[in-house]
Amino acid sequence: MRRAVILGLLVAIGAGGMAVAAQQAQQPQPLTIEKVKENLYKIGGAGSNTTVFITAEGVVLVDTKLANNGEAILKQVQTVTDKPVTMLINTHVHPDHNGSNDYFKMARPAIQVVAHENTKKWVVANPKANPAWMPDRVFTDKTTLGKGKDRIDLYYFGAGHTNGDAFVVFPSLRAMCIGDLMAWNMAPLIDPATGGSVIALPDTLEKALKGIKNVDTVIEGHGNVNTWQGLRAYTEFNRALLTVSKAALARKDTPEQALAELEKNPKFAIFLKEELLKDLEYGGTPKSRALININVAYQELKGEPVTTNFGPPRGGAPPAAPAPGPGASPSPQGK
Ligand SMILES: [Zn+2]
Repeated sequence: MRRAVILGLLVAIGAGGMAVAAQQAQQPQPLTIEKVKENLYKIGGAGSNTTVFITAEGVVLVDTKLANNGEAILKQVQTVTDKPVTMLINTHVHPDHNGSNDYFKMARPAIQVVAHENTKKWVVANPKANPAWMPDRVFTDKTTLGKGKDRIDLYYFGAGHTNGDAFVVFPSLRAMCIGDLMAWNMAPLIDPATGGSVIALPDTLEKALKGIKNVDTVIEGHGNVNTWQGLRAYTEFNRALLTVSKAALARKDTPEQALAELEKNPKFAIFLKEELLKDLEYGGTPKSRALININVAYQELKGEPVTTNFGPPRGGAPPAAPAPGPGASPSPQGK
């Protein structure tokens, strides 16, 4: 049931209805906190992962899940520290990642919300956006917050899941949050309504692999805590998906034939599993997600509006409307 609700929500996001989606209030769910490293925790479920980083001054949260989960998040934070929540970082604009910002903003109006500048553009362009989604501080390519063991580096390398996906690095812990550029270790959802692009995705991931140093732990946007090696393999897979799609399209093969081509490489088997993953909140099997991204690649490569990012063009799930975000300025295809 929850899966259906969240899929509906994401279809609404795809149609540019971010505010509408966020208003589909979710019932608060019981959450659990898990230790990733010293002073670093992950709270899963109810939308995005929420990462908890405990600094000398207070607690930094990366992403705040769907609306109405603020209190449940705070309760989990209080099981590991008495410090107040003093900063929110949003990896991107989707309401399953900033949905409970308002709870923390209300409790502490001086709290800083930090995000990429394109995330701010999408919030500004959306007249129904919750004011608590508005970043107080933005960055363009790279910025540093705090120092010493509390230091956080934020990086942006281009479009992928949206066109505002931030990498949040905790250098003292060799750890990083990657948002929905990587979720459940399968081909990611591409959201053309907020500038996402399957063509840009492998470039963005490859730039991150080159530009970010000394990280061994990668917290995905939903689900898993992965490794740098895992991110490398995942990047190779997303590159191969695009390469195979280009060649198959040139041969006039179907997306299904392109998928069969991708399956010939045994090292990609982990990204092409045919069973649903445990704790998955929306979407299909890894294999079905890969086929969706091949369809998206076909449309992007042909210069068509992307309508297949939630499912195949005929049958299956209804496709998202190709409408751009409200008052959108960035191109749906990214750069
Ligand atoms: Zn997202």
